[in-house]
Amino acid sequence: MAWETVIGLEIHAQLSTNTKIFSGASTAFGAEPNTQACAVDLGLPGVLPVVNAEVVRLAVRFALATNSSITERSQFARKNYFYPDLPKGYQISQMALPIVGPGELTIFDGEDNQKTIRITRAHLEEDAGKSVHDLFTGQTGIDLNRAGTPLLEIVSEPDLSSAVEAVAYAKKMHALVRYIDICDGNMQEGSFRCDANVSIREKGSDVLGTRSEIKNLNSFRFLERAIDFEVERQIDVLEGGGEVMQETRLYDADRDETRSMRSKEEAFDYRYFPDPDLPPLLVEQSFIEQVRASMPELQADRAKRFVNDYELSEVDANTLTSERPTADYFEATLAASDSALAPRLAATWVMGEVFSRLNSDGLTLEQSPVDATALAGLLDRIQDNTISGKIAKSVLDNMWESGEPADKIIADKGLQQITDTGAIEAMIDEVIANNPEQLAEYRAGKDKLISYFIGAVMKASKGKANPGELNKLLKPKLDG
Ligand code: ADP
Ligand code: MG
Repeated sequence: MAWETVIGLEIHAQLSTNTKIFSGASTAFGAEPNTQACAVDLGLPGVLPVVNAEVVRLAVRFALATNSSITERSQFARKNYFYPDLPKGYQISQMALPIVGPGELTIFDGEDNQKTIRITRAHLEEDAGKSVHDLFTGQTGIDLNRAGTPLLEIVSEPDLSSAVEAVAYAKKMHALVRYIDICDGNMQEGSFRCDANVSIREKGSDVLGTRSEIKNLNSFRFLERAIDFEVERQIDVLEGGGEVMQETRLYDADRDETRSMRSKEEAFDYRYFPDPDLPPLLVEQSFIEQVRASMPELQADRAKRFVNDYELSEVDANTLTSERPTADYFEATLAASDSALAPRLAATWVMGEVFSRLNSDGLTLEQSPVDATALAGLLDRIQDNTISGKIAKSVLDNMWESGEPADKIIADKGLQQITDTGAIEAMIDEVIANNPEQLAEYRAGKDKLISYFIGAVMKASKGKANPGELNKLLKPKLDG
């Protein structure tokens, strides 16, 4: 039997605001437990929530970036359940009338084809607190700092058909929310988490299979592995004559498997109803236009501009713009150049030398020891022929370690290329004199030996002979 996979993702993006969604308490990460939850976050009697206007602005930004409709009159609802990290007994969310309606996001599927994934909705809600299991033996602590932190829950249609596609979608969404500055995307701190709804069906069928929902995946690798495991598990169940149960499952990274958390029968009835403390949320057209005017350039537009203005290939333009810090770094490098740096040279160095060093040091671009200005200082010296590309790599190594500018390293170590033809000629003469056998072979017709001589002169010059000059001068001398 051939099976096909169906996946819908729910992504919780923590909105980057200084204060909570319904109160003035701080959202800063890492504070002492229970120092940042105020009476409103705890739902104490006699206090009223007030919507933070900033979360509305950020949700509208999201809608504009994903071609989503914006609900003029949306509504907050109470989702009722008991849990120790939710002392007020309900979470304020949106149910029937979410602020963001249908939209879309285009991704590349496993075969590099474009595929548009439909976004069902995105709604505003508050986060709950956190149970702390590892601080006390035999006891669990509750930290309510996170209670009331603003979240945007982004729900996709079940349009994704493999773990690879799900990861491509989640990564694109991750890059998008950072592009438009609505979420810091920090997955370790829980600012961006995914729930994956997974089902399988016979290939070609248009009826959805029963899904399971895997909760709280906080890395792309876990997302991919949890889905792969879950698909295999469901195939085993169906091929063994069983039935897939609708249930919530948890992914255990240590064992690389998913485990049942609760079945449909145990599912909560949340008794949603409009929150009587909060009036309907009205978003006026003039507000939307104000937000639209402040939107940054989006990835697709920026990639197009990179192709047009910098004559980069589409692949390179997409790579450089996939993350906003990368695109910013690249453009800052061009701007800092004192010699109208060739964009392609800068692109190659950013994607190649800079990124390989960041990868091996486990650093992000924001943490790079060589900033855009420093990189421009190096690339300018390649462009004006002060140093070769090869020497530039060792200068970059040195900049990476010492933090010193390229010019200083080049001057201190005397790395300037030798362009003085007299000096190069002298080196060629010496190399030829020292290699009579090779010279004889060359003159007997072994043309390939020219590269041997180039290498030898380069070595004698410690890599500093200007390659163009060397090539021009060497052959006539070898030919006698
Ligand atoms: P709930 O509120 O119980 O999580 P929703 O109807 O809001 O349920 O659906 C949540 C997610 O599940 C959506 O992303 C949706 O695309 C996805 N989904 C729904 N049915 C299926 C299915 N049969 N297989 C895979 N994903 C599904
Ligand atoms: Mg759900």
